[in-house]
Amino acid sequence: MSTDTLNSVRRVEVVVVGLGTMGSMALWQLASRGVDVLGIEQFGRIHTNGAYAGESRLFRVAAKEGQLFTPALLRSRDLWRELGAAYGQDVLLEVGALSVAPQGHPDIESTLRSIKDYDLPHQVFDAGELRSSFPQFYVEDSDIGVLDLLGGAMRPEVAVAAATDQALAGGADTWYDTEVVGIDETSDGVRVRTTRGEVLADRVVVTAGPWTTRLLPELADVVAVDTYSLTWLMPRHIEMFTPQRLPGFMRDLDDVHAFGVPSLDGYAIKICPHVILDPVSDWDERPTTLDREQLEWIGRQAARMMPDLIPDVVRWSLHSDSVAANKMPIIDTVAGGAIVIATAMSGNGFKFAPVWGEMLADLATGGEGRFSEYGFTIAGHRDQMTAAAADQPSSIK
Ligand SMILES: Cc1cc2nc3c(=O)[nH]c(=O)nc-3n(C[C@H](O)[C@H](O)[C@H](O)COP(=O)(O)OP(=O)(O)OC[C@H]3O[C@@H](n4cnc5c(N)ncnc54)[C@H](O)[C@@H]3O)c2cc1C
Repeated sequence: MSTDTLNSVRRVEVVVVGLGTMGSMALWQLASRGVDVLGIEQFGRIHTNGAYAGESRLFRVAAKEGQLFTPALLRSRDLWRELGAAYGQDVLLEVGALSVAPQGHPDIESTLRSIKDYDLPHQVFDAGELRSSFPQFYVEDSDIGVLDLLGGAMRPEVAVAAATDQALAGGADTWYDTEVVGIDETSDGVRVRTTRGEVLADRVVVTAGPWTTRLLPELADVVAVDTYSLTWLMPRHIEMFTPQRLPGFMRDLDDVHAFGVPSLDGYAIKICPHVILDPVSDWDERPTTLDREQLEWIGRQAARMMPDLIPDVVRWSLHSDSVAANKMPIIDTVAGGAIVIATAMSGNGFKFAPVWGEMLADLATGGEGRFSEYGFTIAGHRDQMTAAAADQPSSIK
């Protein structure tokens, strides 16, 4: 039971710091277990600054990052569907996820391994079959296509709104436009200092995304802020690029990697040839613009991959995510379990969000955490960084 009395600090079982992707999912899961939970967010309920902003995300079950992730993604898919049904809007568009790349490309090989290991529904296309089934793509004779039939596209803003809705319906409380400025362990729980006053909690879940090291500066050696560009181009024949005709996709052509989502706005598609923007240590230092040369390069690459596109970017935005050197998430506890952390989603975390939300709820209620055997610990990240540094040739030190 919450206490909210004059001159006394409010006490709750769990505070969730940051109600973006992971925080809204943790809030939902905690509230659905009957936990007395308060979520605190520095901006509004939905905002353009979060790692989740930008209309759409790609969802895959056949994880190219390694089949280790596939069981988590199968569970995640169930939760996305459950969330969409409860909210009355699709958060997952079940349109499949198509990878097109030269035969033998490492991403294609690892995707096929996941498919085989977990017997996932899929289709494989040779170059000729790709050209006839997906005429939107320019295809080379050496290309192969793999369609992950359980994949698709997600609506991230809708998902955050939906999870928050479920959390509120389950009894969660929220403070928006409230920044958490400090988290201190005390003998009586964890004190959360905010711009609106203090709260005492038995446990705190920190899901502060690209702002994590402001609250937990001790993680600065393992977590940085990486920025990715999202770009939209207009096809001449929009009817070929709707979710009915085009799956979510990844394309590797020459040395350029791109991902994309079919048209959701009715005039353009998202296609994002990867632009390298250097990681920084704090969100305030992130790149905030693409220059003309970068936009022209993106336009040329996108139109080479999909010749029906007019090679001019009609819409673009930049968004930052927390990142670790090995591109693996950190999901761990410190302070004897009183502080639970999820960060370093590394440009890849949206698809896992509800399942990591479940894991955070487990950890914040003293449980082990399903999938905790993945071992996304802070110590594990540090060990890998030390090992990687030891492997570097001395000439680049
Ligand atoms: C451009 C781009 C494209 C991507 N594409 C994909 C994709 O196709 N597929 C995929 O699976 N993943 C993708 N990702 C990755 C995925 O979107 C992120 O990994 C995920 O959204 C990270 O969620 P988060 O909860 O860590 O951060 P966020 O969603 O940013 O949430 C952090 C929240 O904490 C709040 N906060 C921070 N500090 C404080 C504080 N002190 N007090 C109060 N509130 C605070 C912030 O305001 C924010 O709302 C992409 C990421 C980007 C940036």
